[in-house]
Amino acid sequence: LNDGQFELYYQPKILFSTGVIMGVEALIRWHHPIKGFVSPAEFIPLAEQTGIITKIDEWGLRTACRQCKQWQDMGLPPVKVSVNMSQAQFYRTDVISTVKNVLEETGLDPKWLEIEVTETMAMSDIERTVNILRGIRSMGISVSMDDFGSGYSSLNVLKDIDLDILKLDMRFLTTAMATNRSGTILSSIVRMAKWLSLPVIAEGVESMQQADYLKSIGCNYIQGFLYARPMPEGDFTTLLGRSTMGETRPSIHLIETLSADDFWNPES
Ligand code: C2E
Ligand code: MG
Ligand code: MG
Repeated sequence: LNDGQFELYYQPKILFSTGVIMGVEALIRWHHPIKGFVSPAEFIPLAEQTGIITKIDEWGLRTACRQCKQWQDMGLPPVKVSVNMSQAQFYRTDVISTVKNVLEETGLDPKWLEIEVTETMAMSDIERTVNILRGIRSMGISVSMDDFGSGYSSLNVLKDIDLDILKLDMRFLTTAMATNRSGTILSSIVRMAKWLSLPVIAEGVESMQQADYLKSIGCNYIQGFLYARPMPEGDFTTLLGRSTMGETRPSIHLIETLSADDFWNPES
């Protein structure tokens, strides 16, 4: 952290039907001088154990907010930036005052910030989570539930916690993708979220078939390699500058009939 070996990469979240960028997730990267690139999946759990994660997360929050403000000052189309927050940041620090300070310091309007939490961390102390998230949302910041469906308490999360957006990770469904069960689960979650007036974004979208299927069940927001991988700040600045992205989808083919099994199969 002191040597500046961390960097944030940015991955766009898009409205699939138009290709317009509606948000961006900041994802940390560690360029180790000897080991080279170290994946966050490797070092974040370690940083959580040692406790240094709170410093890393605060750095990430500040860098992402500063960057987002800079894009706005450059006259680029405004996008909401989302940052991931660790359990330790939530339970071991005064996260509300940290966020408040960072927003003041960077001059970013809270409406352009989103905080991603996971259900596992949210459910480990539900009362505390509800209070913290209430404080965060009352500042005008959005809260999203990352990796929704991957934990053990997904439905309780919806019952107990006020959220602004659900993030569904397609990778959790890939093993079952060839069966029509995953399609049924996906469409049921999207429908349930609609009843709760909660927008849904699918992440980890890698194929046009997945994106088309998601759109057909009413999930129009996607994030994934299909559209763009996480990229360094400079590349994202260029992408945002060309923000009229045009169509990402091929022309629609009408089909006369489709078997029920095919209809529910996301790969069809
Ligand atoms: P996440 O928040 O669920 O982030 C999404 C992960 O999926 C990212 O991995 C991203 O690169 C990857 N991804 C995006 N689209 C696709 C796709 O189409 N296919 C596949 N196979 N993968 C895709 P990444 O960057 O390695 O980050 C892993 C996790 O590390 C994140 O999962 C998040 O939980 C954590 N993380 C990343 N940055 C931070 C941070 O600054 N603070 C904290 N506390 N956690 C972070
Ligand atoms: Mg995330
Ligand atoms: Mg995720």
